[in-house]
Amino acid sequence: MIITKLQAHHLREIPIQSPPYRDLPDRTRALLVEVTTDDGLTGWAPAGYAHKSIVSFINTYVAELVVGEDPLRRARIQNKLQANLTRRHLGATLTNVLATLDVALWDIKGQYTGQSVHTLIGGAHDRIPVYITHGAAYDNAPVYSVEELAREAKLLVEQGNTHIKNVVGRQAVPDPEDDYVRMAAIREAVGPDISLAMDGNCRMTLPQAIRLCRLTEELNISFLEEPILDNEPDLLRQLRAHTAIPIAAGANHRFSARDLLMSAAVDIIQPNVCNDAGYTAGIAIAEMAEAFNVPLGHGNGSGPHNVALQAGVRNGKIVEYHFHKWMAYNAIFESVPQPENGFLTPSAEPGTGLRPRDGLITEYRVSE
Ligand SMILES: [Mg+2]
Repeated sequence: MIITKLQAHHLREIPIQSPPYRDLPDRTRALLVEVTTDDGLTGWAPAGYAHKSIVSFINTYVAELVVGEDPLRRARIQNKLQANLTRRHLGATLTNVLATLDVALWDIKGQYTGQSVHTLIGGAHDRIPVYITHGAAYDNAPVYSVEELAREAKLLVEQGNTHIKNVVGRQAVPDPEDDYVRMAAIREAVGPDISLAMDGNCRMTLPQAIRLCRLTEELNISFLEEPILDNEPDLLRQLRAHTAIPIAAGANHRFSARDLLMSAAVDIIQPNVCNDAGYTAGIAIAEMAEAFNVPLGHGNGSGPHNVALQAGVRNGKIVEYHFHKWMAYNAIFESVPQPENGFLTPSAEPGTGLRPRDGLITEYRVSE
């Protein structure tokens, strides 16, 4: 079997369901990669970051290196791409492209063998817990008020969700007191039995993060994701010494999973198969983390593609469904696993089980 075509599709203005009490966002964009083989199999994967420069990069430079290769020989393809498109010059763009291509090649491997990616990875868990991230304003919409956050969290819980995550540190200067008020209102609205997590999106200094942890510890926070600027491992390690709140990081990194583990910087490591890991690197990170007794979690979107990794490896613990990105998946792909009482069941279909809806590409594709 050989790859006969690699094509990235840039899609825009796809209608999606807006958040419960807001009109926006009601559209999304996407970058989908299609890998076609001479066997008639087609692998699909979304790029974690949908920038149009990546579309032309894939279609112009990556395609000519990948066409003609055996899609099951992922390691050979990675070596070839890294030799010809150096990470030194392309940095995160190359990492992102390698991850997306890897996901599409696993999709082909699954279809070729008649097995789901979840099973091929190891099939450790029949289902995996899911948390819902919500309350992030998009398209220059105003920041959610305390009341809006609490009301939306309460609705999500009434719909059967058991674990909620919210953004903290998003002010012009991160403000732990303001975040405490917001998180306390959510705790009040959802009650004591719901798990509550926070995401700092790499915006806080160490003192700001310590202050936030001290204030919110009484709210029984399940984990705090990426609190510190650049995920600096030594600062994360120092933060852990000041708080019992578990610290998670790994999706937006200047530092590698190895750096975070070696520095004892995290309680939960969070590779993302679509942004920076692919299933291949995700499995390697899971195995490395196992040696440190660190479980795997997930953040930063692309939840439906990350289900197979988290449910596949032994130390996989949880998947994020970010409300906006969840709705985008529902609009783009067929058969997206839906949360049921706080859990997701991985697809049993061959491959990822995630294929774009009929006609979607023709309707929303941007001609470059
Ligand atoms: Mg995050």
